[in-house]
Amino acid sequence: MRFRSLFFAPLVAFATLTSCSTDDAPEGATAGELNLYSSRHYDTDIALYENFTEATGIKINLIEAGADELIERIKSEGEASPADLLITVDAGRLWRAEQAGIFQPIDSPILNERLPENMRHPEGLWVGLSKRARVIVYNAEAGLPEPLSDYADLADPAHRGKVCIRSSSNIYNISLMAAMMSRMGEAAAEEWAAGVVANFARTPQSNDTGQIRAVASGECQIGVANTYYLARLAASDDPADQAVSSAVEIVFPGQEGNGTHVNISGAGLVSTSPNPENAIKFLEYLTSEPAQLLFANGNNEYPAVPGIAGTSAVVGLGEFKEDTLNASELGINQAMAIMVFDRAGWK
Ligand code: FE
Repeated sequence: MRFRSLFFAPLVAFATLTSCSTDDAPEGATAGELNLYSSRHYDTDIALYENFTEATGIKINLIEAGADELIERIKSEGEASPADLLITVDAGRLWRAEQAGIFQPIDSPILNERLPENMRHPEGLWVGLSKRARVIVYNAEAGLPEPLSDYADLADPAHRGKVCIRSSSNIYNISLMAAMMSRMGEAAAEEWAAGVVANFARTPQSNDTGQIRAVASGECQIGVANTYYLARLAASDDPADQAVSSAVEIVFPGQEGNGTHVNISGAGLVSTSPNPENAIKFLEYLTSEPAQLLFANGNNEYPAVPGIAGTSAVVGLGEFKEDTLNASELGINQAMAIMVFDRAGWK
């Protein structure tokens, strides 16, 4: 676990005749602090924190660790927890935090206005700050194996021995299964999972990038990965990554149906937060355009606020219709999704 202090001396507010309203002026030492527990760790996140401190005078104390570790830490710190905000990836993890009882509702008209409904928990327990889509990749040289227009097709008997996907314990797959269950019901989702297992090219292993590499090498014809891994490879300076990137093609599943499964990076306000106003101020800042560009683009994700463009690598993946299922649904079905995977024999 790393602990960083990101204090920056507040800017001196020059009171000149030409200066604008002092509403935005730093509040200096009285602005206080914000204790951020984050499982994200991108260089651009650091720039975000610095910009926020510069604009508001609020000092950010950052603790970085894995999401489950941070949830446990907040739980064990109890009432005395210094944590104000928990930032993490995947609605499944936000749901775990919600289940652990460590969030309180966020009340912010600015967030309600800027973020679409499906990027906000129904009771305001967390907000989505960026999005990622879970897409199908196939080997470009071998061409599009058909049918392959939706997740359901991954179970088609035409694809025996062709499909690579990571294990069922992976949160991205658990959330995808949760979405499948919401859309098709538990029994059909289990049948689907059994069909995908029957099509495995290999026992589930490695991470999303590993699936993409296996598809590029031809070990598998079909794989599943989150968009930011594809964009990262496409934007890489490494010729080996470039070769992998150009050896695969993407299918955005469900374009004729419910749309492509989308998940979020998000944040929740800790129930015992000592600095809730600062925490909400920070969340509101994260939905501003400059902050969205840093937060989403630092990891090649899609900004959560509509109308803000992604990186060129992300835009290059193409446009698609996204499934607008509320991310909270992905959490509700988590426990059942794990059982369905087990019954289907998905390792
Ligand atoms: Fe990831």
